[in-house]
Amino acid sequence: MCKKETKVFLCKYCKRYFCKEHIDPKPVLTFQQVFTAKEPLRSKLEEFWRSEKGHPDYVYTQIFWEKMEEEERTIMRKMWEALDRLNEQKYGKKESSSSSIIVRIDLVTIILLILIFILIVLFFIFSH
Ligand SMILES: [Zn+2]
Ligand SMILES: [Zn+2]
Repeated sequence: MCKKETKVFLCKYCKRYFCKEHIDPKPVLTFQQVFTAKEPLRSKLEEFWRSEKGHPDYVYTQIFWEKMEEEERTIMRKMWEALDRLNEQKYGKKESSSSSIIVRIDLVTIILLILIFILIVLFFIFSH
């Protein structure tokens, strides 16, 4: 593939030698695969497809698709986790705010009762 006579590098996937410019492996893609893919995968595939750099590598292609699948799974998992967190926040806040209101009301009534009691006691002391 490389016609230039320069320093060559071994591709760890297909075990062939390439120049610096072509050492990066890229997935072997057909026109069909690129243009029937859904975004954001499509732009990624198209970038590889148009790129002059790197070399098409059948060994890497397998790994590439596994990586893409893994990425998709990760995105899905993150989305679910984000949703879970949102739900937790919603319910968590509701519970804590309502219970704190109850606690605050209790405190206020107790303080008021104590104040009233002190006033009554004071009133009796001074009225005598
Ligand atoms: Zn080359
Ligand atoms: Zn290779």
